Amino acid sequence: MKNRRLIPLVLYLLVLIAAFTWLSDLFQTDVNQIPYSEVVELFRQEQVKNFVVDGNVITMNLYTPLNGETTITSTLADLDGFQQQMGDLLTEQVESGVLEYYHYLPEEGFSPYTLILPLLVVGLILLFVWAMFMSRANSANPLNNFGKARTVLGVPDGKKVTFADVAGADEEKEELQEVVDFLRNPEKFTEIGARIPHGLLLVGPPGTGKTLLARAVAGEADVQFLSISGSDFVEMYVGVGASRVRDLFDQAKKVAPAIIFIDEIDAVGRKRGSGLGGGHDEKEQTLNQLLVEMDGFSRTEGVIVLAATNRPDILDPALLRPGRFDRQIHVGRPDVKGREEILKVHAKGKRLDASVNLKTIARSTAGFTGADLSNLLNEAAILAARENRPVLTMVDLNEALMKITAGPAKKSRVQTRKDLKETAIHEAGHAVAMYNLPTHDPVRHITIIPRGQSLGATWYLPTDDSANLTRNQMYEQIVSLLGGRVAEALFIGDISVGASNDIDRASKLARDMVARYGMCEKLGTVSYLDGGEVFIGRDYQTTKSYSEKVAGTIDDEVKALIDKAYDRCRQILLENEQKLHQVVDFLLKKESMTGEQFEAIMKGEPVEEASATALFDGFETSDGKEPESK
Ligand code: ADP
Ligand code: MG
Ligand code: ZN
Repeated sequence: MKNRRLIPLVLYLLVLIAAFTWLSDLFQTDVNQIPYSEVVELFRQEQVKNFVVDGNVITMNLYTPLNGETTITSTLADLDGFQQQMGDLLTEQVESGVLEYYHYLPEEGFSPYTLILPLLVVGLILLFVWAMFMSRANSANPLNNFGKARTVLGVPDGKKVTFADVAGADEEKEELQEVVDFLRNPEKFTEIGARIPHGLLLVGPPGTGKTLLARAVAGEADVQFLSISGSDFVEMYVGVGASRVRDLFDQAKKVAPAIIFIDEIDAVGRKRGSGLGGGHDEKEQTLNQLLVEMDGFSRTEGVIVLAATNRPDILDPALLRPGRFDRQIHVGRPDVKGREEILKVHAKGKRLDASVNLKTIARSTAGFTGADLSNLLNEAAILAARENRPVLTMVDLNEALMKITAGPAKKSRVQTRKDLKETAIHEAGHAVAMYNLPTHDPVRHITIIPRGQSLGATWYLPTDDSANLTRNQMYEQIVSLLGGRVAEALFIGDISVGASNDIDRASKLARDMVARYGMCEKLGTVSYLDGGEVFIGRDYQTTKSYSEKVAGTIDDEVKALIDKAYDRCRQILLENEQKLHQVVDFLLKKESMTGEQFEAIMKGEPVEEASATALFDGFETSDGKEPESK
């Protein structure tokens, strides 16, 4: 790799240097070079003090300057002729003392400047052109490169990743350990006839470390790692994707043992026949080629294909058949222990204040992926660095967590008093509703400082990792989502577009409850949504698996559910009107309030100073009992 790039460069430099010296040499002699006839004339006029002939170049020193120079050269085309013609004159002039002396230096054959250098230059240029041509043919020219897989051989940033870099994910690592063992020592497995999977599919939400795990497998096994993204296969030109697949597998076999990693395989591995219009022929060809290649190489070749996707449901079933990606590894969101370990990995190399408690952060970030956590620490470090603080503190982490979940604070945005009051009422509506809903997670922080796209925000954080929502929890979430809108209607007398995101989310939740999770009596325990993407080309006629009548009932039930939630919310806010206005006043005065301050108001207790780490408050006082993992 390196050499191929270096050679043309070196050649190029050499040619430049040679050409430069050659040219400058020509220029130099040009200045005081005169034609042969003038040389003869100079001798006739007795102007030459002395001269030296080197090869066929004569260098003369003159009595009076010619063209401002007293040293003049000329090229003698016919040295013998010169000696014959001038011989007598020269003897005469030496005798008379006009000519001090002259020498003929012995001829050394070819002068380097007259012959070898031009040859060298021409040779170098030819070499250079050839090298350019070769390197073009190899890689630089995109025209020659269409059918080649755009793989990254080796690890992109050159850093070797091992399982130690992947925190948590113990089960995933255990499953992948088998692959590592096979790559390290294939004979051990093939000798006893063990079947090692051709392909493993890593399935999980974005940011959970699928790419990282794949790299770690290669690092652990110390084998070549060829990575390519599914979207790299997809080009406008028919046939290109298929030839890229072929090339990828060829490359891998050459460097085996190796891992081929196809990231985001859903880009190429979608169900065939899905999608309307052009382009899907090309995708099908590519996918077919992939299937052929996966069937084609034998298990002894030491190549294992890993692929990652967050949409296994849209993959073509043929990809998942035995001999292809017949094993799936689910890479889930980390649990609290996993989160703490991931935080530890990413805290390395960052200077943390002694007060920073990674356990607390892990507890308050339920649902975060590894990428989110890495991002959290990084944002906090940036905040600390921006203020020239040497270490990052819990306050930075708190601010970073707010920034990640709701966008950066926009303190400079000018808002009228009326706007602020409306925002305060909206947020107080959410918060008061949450407080009065038994299954709702507690309020952590409320602000009317604009953040990201919203004018204000109310934070609540789940207290544990429970991924299982009950019907009651979902319903109460709808109630709290409506809190902003209900408060506007009750206490402003008008409603605003500020609640549109809340209403979207509430409607989606309600629709899921009714049509997906079978949580409504009238429709029974039936799922009417298939959960997958709607494939227009494939499923055009069969998108709806239910009748128009059922569709009408779904709409009615969704509306009824929302209406019920609206009334519940209205009731809560009216019962707590006094407290809600206290919260609004507090927000208008201080712009933000912590969960503790909010609770104090709700309980009618004195409000204490704000904590700067509100999102973490309460999580650190946990009794040390770890929540059940998964
Ligand atoms: P995916 O491919 O699943 O979308 P990545 O592997 O690209 O996720 O992860 C993105 C980043 O998140 C990684 O580079 C790493 O910094 C961090 N990360 C994710 N999971 C983990 C983990 N288990 N341990 C350490 N870091 C992780
Ligand atoms: Mg990835
Ligand atoms: Zn809202």
